[in-house]
Amino acid sequence: METLYESNIQSKRNNWHQYQSTFDCYLGNKGSMAKEPNTKNNDTPSKYNKIKEERAKIILSREKAVRKINKGIYLVQSQTGSGFYKVQWNGKNWVCDCPDFVKNGHAGPCKHIIALKLRFVGFVNIEGQETKVEKKTYSQNWHLYNSAQTQEFELFDKLLYHLVEPIQGPEHNGPGRPSLKTSDQIFCCVMKVYSMLSSRRARWLYHEAVQRQQIENAPHFNVVSTSLNKKEITPILHQLVRMSAQPLSSIENDFAMDSSGFRCSSFGNYCEEKHGTKRMRKWLKVHICTGVKTNVVSDVIITDEHAADSPQFPILLKNTAGHFQINEVSADPAYSSRKNHDIVDELGGKPFILFKKNATGRSDGSAIWKRSYHYFQLHKEDFLEHYHKRSNAETTFSAIKTKFSETLKSRNHTAQVNEMLCKIIAYNITVLIREFIEMGADTELFSIVRLTKEILMSNSDSI
Ligand SMILES: [Zn+2]
Repeated sequence: METLYESNIQSKRNNWHQYQSTFDCYLGNKGSMAKEPNTKNNDTPSKYNKIKEERAKIILSREKAVRKINKGIYLVQSQTGSGFYKVQWNGKNWVCDCPDFVKNGHAGPCKHIIALKLRFVGFVNIEGQETKVEKKTYSQNWHLYNSAQTQEFELFDKLLYHLVEPIQGPEHNGPGRPSLKTSDQIFCCVMKVYSMLSSRRARWLYHEAVQRQQIENAPHFNVVSTSLNKKEITPILHQLVRMSAQPLSSIENDFAMDSSGFRCSSFGNYCEEKHGTKRMRKWLKVHICTGVKTNVVSDVIITDEHAADSPQFPILLKNTAGHFQINEVSADPAYSSRKNHDIVDELGGKPFILFKKNATGRSDGSAIWKRSYHYFQLHKEDFLEHYHKRSNAETTFSAIKTKFSETLKSRNHTAQVNEMLCKIIAYNITVLIREFIEMGADTELFSIVRLTKEILMSNSDSI
């Protein structure tokens, strides 16, 4: 009997063109459907290994990517998911239980084995004696990383305060108690989402903020839920996402597009029970453009779960180009269209969007499409090395979900969208803090706050 895995592979085989199977081999996806790398060409294995080494570095950039479970047995984190693969010493070689190694292991180590070897100095020569192995920190300065983690909480509200400071309104006319300033409402919403506390428990954050003179009054605990329900704050939150990415504009030029679902907690079931309807959304689809160096989110679009990916691409990229110089843009075949290629070209960038199986090199009015298609056909490995930067979009989503959960607490659609935007603003602020500290230019808290404030103030007229 065919297993589910095999039938998946079979249906993929039917769906994908021959050359795309070859890519998947280079990309390390689903090893079983992939062809072996061309070992006849001397260039290929080294390029192939180079790509795997890049991936191994991505794996190692996470804190607990490698865990020892026994002598000669390690768990190495999957690059794309949160799962682990078992890498062990069989007396002769290191073997891994990932699909890539199972299929292509005879041609060389997989990215998990490479990651393991990179983590330890002299690993190869002292097999079986890992007790003598020295731990090597790789591509991550742990001192600075830890420093960023511990200072994050201290810096977060200060940066958030400067981010929301330029927001105006609302006007207060006539009698009655003036309503909470929009900037204060948004400050409290983002603080609540960042803290992941319940409405009632988040109140102490607001009182703290009053004492620090970041907001005027601590709102009643349900005011934040009311604010999240306001449609009029949605465009402001969108703008805050873009502004919170902007301080990194001097170091980000390459971008990746992707989308992912966020679960709308209980409301689907609640609504079904109460009103006997299944019409409510169960997921929001979040489309992002993310920088590949820092994983900052430069722009975001939130749609319902069935919306297509491709039409979001031009909007995300144009908004990104408002604050960033665009160099490379990578995206998977869901975004492959002549229009999207044209947009990248118009904005001065180079598209690395993987072509669909039935794509042809016909320009149909798009010169860049034709150029890119031929480049892709003639220099596949090079193309794929650039295309591979796309995996950073997955890293971004995984970081947001790990840090702020993939479930939205709010009950109605507007509040869910606003809550999601607050998550991204909070995430971007944590990226800013990490980057400023890791850049090591100046780790004084005050300097970081001042620097961010200056950058933000220079471009805040439009809120
Ligand atoms: Zn592996």
